[in-house]
Amino acid sequence: PERERAELRSGIRNTVTMLNHKIRKNQVTVIENIPDDLPQPCIYISAMNQVWTNLIDNALDALEGRPNGTLEIKAEKDREFILVHIIDNGPGIPEAIQDKIFDSFFTTKPVGKGTGLGLEVVRQIILQHNGKVTVKSQPGHTVFTVCIPIQ
Ligand code: ADP
Ligand code: MG
Repeated sequence: PERERAELRSGIRNTVTMLNHKIRKNQVTVIENIPDDLPQPCIYISAMNQVWTNLIDNALDALEGRPNGTLEIKAEKDREFILVHIIDNGPGIPEAIQDKIFDSFFTTKPVGKGTGLGLEVVRQIILQHNGKVTVKSQPGHTVFTVCIPIQ
């Protein structure tokens, strides 16, 4: 597959639609804050959709069974980069494991529910795009930020 110039917004929207069943099941409110005039980076479209799927899926898992679960997806231009923030108000990620969550097969989910590959795949795909993915988390507030060069 070739890289194509594409807007991130439609990929993110499609992903939210694909995960709509789980969003409803976990009673999560989704807030999208993605300007429609963001520059279009050059991306592998289906790989990038996998990134949104894995990050949003994790947020939905974190919000399962919690009252007022909210997932916010925010995007912005920052100099020559597009930043996408995936934010949830779930339990957060203990500091002691924050540097392990991107490793292959690291999971805190029960057998059958988690493979521990989601974030490893995210990291690989974002690296392919010469970007970066970071996490900031405290109880009640977790932010994954994907940074993609516009070029
Ligand atoms: P999996 O979802 O199969 O467990 P991932 O690589 O997607 O594997 O995630 C690894 C681990 O990172 C998860 O098991 C979980 O402990 C933690 N994690 C990821 N995203 C979140 C989040 N939004 N809130 C809390 N924990 C998270
Ligand atoms: Mg996952």
